[in-house]
Amino acid sequence: MQFRQLFDHESGTYTYLVGGPPGGKALLIDPVKEATDLYLMLIEQLDLRLTIAIDTHTHADHVTALGELRERVGCITMMGANSRADCVSARFADGEVIDLDGIRLKAMATPGHTDESFSLVMSDRVFTGDALLIRGTGRTDFQNGDAYAAYDSIFNKLLRLPDETLVYPGHDYKGWTVSTIGEERLYNPRLQVASAAEYAELMGKLNLPAPKQMDVAVPANLACGRLPAGLAPGKPGF
Ligand code: FE
Repeated sequence: MQFRQLFDHESGTYTYLVGGPPGGKALLIDPVKEATDLYLMLIEQLDLRLTIAIDTHTHADHVTALGELRERVGCITMMGANSRADCVSARFADGEVIDLDGIRLKAMATPGHTDESFSLVMSDRVFTGDALLIRGTGRTDFQNGDAYAAYDSIFNKLLRLPDETLVYPGHDYKGWTVSTIGEERLYNPRLQVASAAEYAELMGKLNLPAPKQMDVAVPANLACGRLPAGLAPGKPGF
């Protein structure tokens, strides 16, 4: 298995490349549109062929590369069953396995950050999107977010994975790259709560500013990463 963790500085987004041996297939998780050339260069250098691009959820902070990757290399674009994005070629249901020449990723519905968020469990690791971050959790205050659902996803699904499972999140803003389920249970400050109600209260007090690209990213991501007419990232007012 070939594995790479790539970072987009602008949005603090992690993108993951998972591939077979040289000559084999590859998939990307949560690719960022602006980095499309970088991904395709790396995939070529590793002698891989991109066959699948996945978004864990509809992102509010960056524009997805799914549409552009599909156009350029003809890969399948995938999101979870409840996604409202119109450029998805295939949707995975809870428990469904995505097979990349023997590398198996099991889709785990982990709603809460959005109502269509999924995590992907692959052998010794889990890609959590924004359901569980390192020493943090995804906000639940827009895009049909729900702190009670997030609590259930985190405590009744993700934290039931083996403690040594590696946690690869969708974002980081502080310099963390990877954690484990056991480490997050012990040290993630958001997880030191006694009940779903306590978690919802904590999440309700965060008062976070809207993501800076949200007005562009959400409509674009529902349209395959195509920017709505007249909008562009970085344009004054966004
Ligand atoms: Fe997100």
